[in-house]
Amino acid sequence: MPGTALMNTYGERKLTLVRGKGHYVWDDRDQRYFDGISGIGVCGLGHCHPAVAAAVAEQAKTLLHTSNLYLIPAQKALAERLSAISGMDNTFFSNSGAEANEAAIKLALRHGHNRGLALPRIVVMEGAFHGRTFATLTATANAKVRDGFGALPENFIRAPFNDVAALEKLAAEHEDIVAILLEPIQGEGGIGVPDPGYIESVRQVCDQSGWLMMLDEVQTGNGRTGRYFAYQHSNILPDVVTTAKGLGNGVPIGACLARGQAAALFGPGSHGSTYGGNPLACSAGLAVLDTIESEVLIENAEKMGALLAEKLREKLVDNPAFVEVRGKGLMIGIELTTPCPELVDRARERGLLLNVTAGNVIRLLPPLTLKEQDCEFITSTVAELVVAFAEETN
Ligand SMILES: *Cc1c(COP(=O)(O)O)cnc(C)c1O
Repeated sequence: MPGTALMNTYGERKLTLVRGKGHYVWDDRDQRYFDGISGIGVCGLGHCHPAVAAAVAEQAKTLLHTSNLYLIPAQKALAERLSAISGMDNTFFSNSGAEANEAAIKLALRHGHNRGLALPRIVVMEGAFHGRTFATLTATANAKVRDGFGALPENFIRAPFNDVAALEKLAAEHEDIVAILLEPIQGEGGIGVPDPGYIESVRQVCDQSGWLMMLDEVQTGNGRTGRYFAYQHSNILPDVVTTAKGLGNGVPIGACLARGQAAALFGPGSHGSTYGGNPLACSAGLAVLDTIESEVLIENAEKMGALLAEKLREKLVDNPAFVEVRGKGLMIGIELTTPCPELVDRARERGLLLNVTAGNVIRLLPPLTLKEQDCEFITSTVAELVVAFAEETN
């Protein structure tokens, strides 16, 4: 049996991918697929982008790793670029999204410790996904992620997403809350887009209550929603923002950015990582930022995202299995009336990779380099699938 030397954390995997180029990947039988999920929002520039490939190859020939005992020029340069883009003061680099969130959670706990709290609490959302390390799985809402690991840390309080009154109530009732951690658009939770003004209201509650506003932009960041960070659709700044996925285009990297008092909470020894921000990861990150700029990809994500959503709505509006299309930029969810996990296989059989999240939401995270003809292909494929699905289920 293939895969028996691997721990069984991913279930059966039906596809073996061996190479990629741009928007396409090929399997071990040389079948081609359009990658509508981009390695779960990672390969925003498409696969094997020449600028990233060249940066990685060059760095591999120059210096792959040194550890953080020494200053790393690419790390310093990437932090400066991220500060300029985000309005944040400084960055800690990690190797993944969960690790970036671990850094954010530790910042919040430090903030609480400085206030003299024995058990500082962080507000997290229903429907949230923050990763699978010990602290981040506790912050995650889904029981499948949380259950079976015994007693979890008690530092988290859960609140409904997109509900400002619930936050105000928590603020009034609890003295021990030090921060809120949330995704500006929920990804794994089913592409949850809050009402206009929600993010601004969260900022207000944080200001009134002395909470750090911490945004998990692991999925929404790096141009995905049509801004570099999703909070840039508003004019607020968070205190802490985390990102990962799209930052390395496939080279593992994560980042925890902070501003103001949050940026000064860590000192030498408070946090660290052997690999975090190593020369390889940071040279890839710099190539990604250069390419996002030179190929004007954030603007393209906004434009193509609007086009794709509109085309999908047009084709699906009269379908009895269709609820709505939602999202921002190239982070798009198509909600159906019933659970539809089988659509993943059927889309793959038609040469389109996508996934289904929260049971009944088809999730699309196509590359930021998407073109109009790609929107046509995705729309017609998804529409055919949903038509057939509606006929079976109704
Ligand atoms: C993917 C994701 C994570 C976890 O990232 P890993 O790199 O898998 O650890 C955390 N938060 C959000 C919002 C994500 O989408």
